[in-house]
Amino acid sequence: MIIAKNALPGLLDKLIAEYEVYAPVKEGTYSLYKQICKGTEAYFGFLNSKIPPKGILFPQSEKLFSYSGAQMEECIDSKKKVVFGLRPCDAQSLLLLDSVFKNDKYEDPYYMNRRANTLLVGMACCYPAPTCFCTSMGGGPFDSKGLDVMLTDIGDEYLVEAVSEKGRELMAKMALSAAGDGQKAAAAKVRDAAVVTCEVKTDGLKNKLDANFYDSIWESFHEKCLGCGSCTYSCPTCHCFDIVDEARDCNGCRVRNWDSCMFPLFTLHGSGHNPRTTGKERMRQRVMHKFKYFVDNFNATACVGCGRCIKNCPVNLDIREILADIQGSEARSDK
Ligand code: SF4
Ligand code: SF4
Repeated sequence: MIIAKNALPGLLDKLIAEYEVYAPVKEGTYSLYKQICKGTEAYFGFLNSKIPPKGILFPQSEKLFSYSGAQMEECIDSKKKVVFGLRPCDAQSLLLLDSVFKNDKYEDPYYMNRRANTLLVGMACCYPAPTCFCTSMGGGPFDSKGLDVMLTDIGDEYLVEAVSEKGRELMAKMALSAAGDGQKAAAAKVRDAAVVTCEVKTDGLKNKLDANFYDSIWESFHEKCLGCGSCTYSCPTCHCFDIVDEARDCNGCRVRNWDSCMFPLFTLHGSGHNPRTTGKERMRQRVMHKFKYFVDNFNATACVGCGRCIKNCPVNLDIREILADIQGSEARSDK
């Protein structure tokens, strides 16, 4: 199917009549996914958003339930949503978050309800950024896994392809015209030209991490880290959270807030003991969680190569360099 670029705001307006629609919006020099009230608010001239769209399904701060005396009200959000224009790496990250929030041990109704009621309309990456390394992490600039519909920019138009059954149903409502051979060929040309130039070697990485918990290599990675947490807050796969109860008299609520393993308070015990005393342990945890523990638990790496932690780090700490150093290190299990 095909849609002219100048017809996109009208299509978004139709979706807004039925769904909460989230799309990239320009904010100064960057873009963020926000709920839009008019199709013209969406902005697609971006490489990728500064912050991933994960907060639409897993908000930075969310009330889980509130109570007043013996009355309790659970805050489940079942509103129908469309996330429009997300990148393939961010769609892949949601598949990883699915394993965290629904598995054989537990199911998180807050995330899963939003997830079940959300359609994902992706936008292929015609111009991968120099910090992108999705192809090293099992994805790609035109990878459609996890999406319901995929759009490809072919100049004045977008090629629109259904990926899932839900996507086919959405496209049927859009009443678009069929794509011709020339438009399909133009999309193939754009796809071939979209090359991710950065490669990160992942072969054998897990085996190295299995063996190097006590390696001296961890002494240096954290040295310039400020512990600001920007890398984790802007990561589409990071999902650590804290729970707080806010109460006054017999009324109150329970709130879940994003947290970060890069903060010293994250593991501070009530006794005053902190098992991750310094930046060294915290940096090791961040890397281990993504490239070892997540693989142990879910058989996948908790990184999609979006490059946001690289772009958003105030001291230019680059996870690609850390991984390269680990790959070049000796695997040792001695203390
Ligand atoms: S963004 Fe950079 S400085 Fe901030 S916690 Fe992460 S690695 Fe450290
Ligand atoms: S670790 Fe960095 S590159 Fe990997 S998904 Fe998170 S923010 Fe993106």
